[in-house]
Amino acid sequence: MASRVLVLYAGGTIGMAPSPDGLRPMDGFAERLHAALAEDAHRLPHFDVQSLEHPIDSAQLRPGDWSAIAAPLIAQWDAYDGFVVLHGTDTLAWTASALSFLLMGADKPVILTGAQIPWLQARSDALGNVHAALQFAARREIREVAVCFGRTLMRGNRCRKRASSDFDAFDSPNAPALARIGIDLQVDERALLSPPARDFRNPPLSTDTVELLTVHPGLSGRRIDALSADPAVRGLILLSYGVGNLPSDDPTLSAALERAAERELVVLNLTQCWQGRVAQDTYASGAALSRLGVIDGADLTPEAAFAKLHYLLAVAHTPAQVRVHLRQPLCGEMRPG
Ligand code: ASP
Repeated sequence: MASRVLVLYAGGTIGMAPSPDGLRPMDGFAERLHAALAEDAHRLPHFDVQSLEHPIDSAQLRPGDWSAIAAPLIAQWDAYDGFVVLHGTDTLAWTASALSFLLMGADKPVILTGAQIPWLQARSDALGNVHAALQFAARREIREVAVCFGRTLMRGNRCRKRASSDFDAFDSPNAPALARIGIDLQVDERALLSPPARDFRNPPLSTDTVELLTVHPGLSGRRIDALSADPAVRGLILLSYGVGNLPSDDPTLSAALERAAERELVVLNLTQCWQGRVAQDTYASGAALSRLGVIDGADLTPEAAFAKLHYLLAVAHTPAQVRVHLRQPLCGEMRPG
């Protein structure tokens, strides 16, 4: 039976055109793309193209926008065999991570892609990326949210934007690629996710719930106190050094983390290294964090951690439940130590 794919345009450079103040999403992009792809229809799965009501430059994205992208996918899940989401590259990895949690147990491919050069400009990578995404969206062995860009298909909650101007703009530093795009599309079946049971949830997500703080020389506990005193903030991600180290000889930091624990703030420790994982108990400075209830974020990317924390704080009932789920992989987003 022929596959049917829904292409959802959420915004981004792929569908932008020059305006007096720079690139902006163009009017009628979805219809124009549909007409352009129709010329190649005999080489592609059957597809429909829809657009979000207000396509955006993805630099404007807020967590609540993830619900607006997930909603049409959930509503039309049974009508299609696969989905392509066209998205700006700036926050594509964040949205791919968020969709992997909102569409927990997806039993069909959801492929995000975009472009570095707008579709209607010379040397654009748009159509190549869309063609590859459509072909992956018709592959029934793929049952997860993935990112297709340049020459690679990656797990959505493992990928990161690595380059602002290369066509291979994304990478998956801590997990193998799902497929390579060459003359053939070579899917590595061993790397694909065996999804858990389908459990779609699309709760409202508020903007200020989760904060990210990069540890740097001289970081003071006052910064952590300021974030944890904000009643809207319920989760804090620390991007620490190496395998998860913070300066341990600064008493203001540990005192601020103690106060954060008293407030039931969920604190997650990630490495600021591009590749690798936290092993919090390796050094005395990290082990002190474990005693303060800080959770070892293993090899989560910052994007996946941010989305997972938003999702869990929206669906779990208590901070204790959030902590339990943070330590476990839910949909291939981490490999515990
Ligand atoms: N600012 C654009 C966006 O993220 C960049 C892009 O799409 O490449 O929407």
